[in-house]
Amino acid sequence: MLTHLECTRCGEHYPADRPQSVCPNDAGILYARYDLPRIKATFSAARLAGRAPTMWRYDAVLPDANPVSLGEGFTPLLSSREFPGVFIKDEGLNPTGSFKARGLSACVTMARHFGLKNLAIPSAGNAAGALAAYAATAGLAAHIFMPRDVPAANRIECDYYGAHVTLVDGLISDCAKKVAELKETEAWQKDGWFDVSTTKEPYRVEGKKTMGFEVAEQLGWKLPQGIIYPAGGGVGLLGMWKAFDEMEALGWIGPERPKMIAVQSSGCAPIVKAWEEGKSSVEMWPNAATLASGLRVPKPYGDYLILDILKKSNGTAIAATDEEILEATRHWAKVEGIFAAPEGAACLVACRRLRASGFFQPEDTVVLFNTGTGLKYLDVLDQKAGKSLSPKPPKSAKPSTRQIGGIIGPY
Ligand SMILES: [Zn+2]
Repeated sequence: MLTHLECTRCGEHYPADRPQSVCPNDAGILYARYDLPRIKATFSAARLAGRAPTMWRYDAVLPDANPVSLGEGFTPLLSSREFPGVFIKDEGLNPTGSFKARGLSACVTMARHFGLKNLAIPSAGNAAGALAAYAATAGLAAHIFMPRDVPAANRIECDYYGAHVTLVDGLISDCAKKVAELKETEAWQKDGWFDVSTTKEPYRVEGKKTMGFEVAEQLGWKLPQGIIYPAGGGVGLLGMWKAFDEMEALGWIGPERPKMIAVQSSGCAPIVKAWEEGKSSVEMWPNAATLASGLRVPKPYGDYLILDILKKSNGTAIAATDEEILEATRHWAKVEGIFAAPEGAACLVACRRLRASGFFQPEDTVVLFNTGTGLKYLDVLDQKAGKSLSPKPPKSAKPSTRQIGGIIGPY
């Protein structure tokens, strides 16, 4: 049912029967397009009942290829204990502990389908772990380029999954430069290399869009009044917005849309800045720094689409400080029983603020996305809390301790 790829800037069509990156004319992001009238005639939402609880239950609107799956998706939509009408979509329960599983499951599925061999990714952390796991499942090689100071869990899991890891001094943008340099080499073409960076291939968005299908299905085919989402690269926002349009075309929902809210950290808030200045693209955020490593994206490639979605949905963009994010992480754990990734907990900061300002009414249904589990940030959270969970070395031990593979210990 996948008919072609379409450029989100110039509208040009490209064939979907081979690997594609971005539009050759204007570097626009390519979206997968389907024969929706035909799907509508042959498939209905009622037929989802009884299907396996993974994102591949929506395979009628996903590329037709043999899925590389670890059981990703169909995560719980939990009612908040604190705010009636507020739900938390807990993406921390995905394989590899984050929402990145969805995009990489779809992306690696298509990479295998096209016979690619070597997949390269610049990642702020969790996408690396997800690529490494799905590449291992598919029998492909993963080449990871991540900042040296990513949470230890991300580095260690990639190593265990058998990925080739390069630690880069700098941010995800510096990692992306490393991948760009590789593209100039002879081996890139010869050995079946492919860049699976966020939005630089069409299928990570397809995986992420299933979050939109799930929110609708789990709310009884009604959309909420608001969706609060931590936006680094912002692929989930793109994907969900695309899913809403597809569901409307399929007759599964009406024309209503939630207000889409992008949350960032005040240490790296290029979308918030552009939104407040009424711009349609972002400027590179200088000296990006935040403990929410997934939000340390100084210039998201899909900026023009993210800002357009915020505008069309009557949404907004909110920045939370690291202190607010840490407090919210602890609060969610205590009150909701959810040990969230800092990026996810940032949604609580935004939710409180938007309810206090009247942007959301108490009776509004609002969905907050916890994009990952806090368990992948233990070193970050431990350090930032100012307390050590690790046992202190005995006084008699040698005074010097050093970090070995993320494990701090006396030796
Ligand atoms: Zn184009």
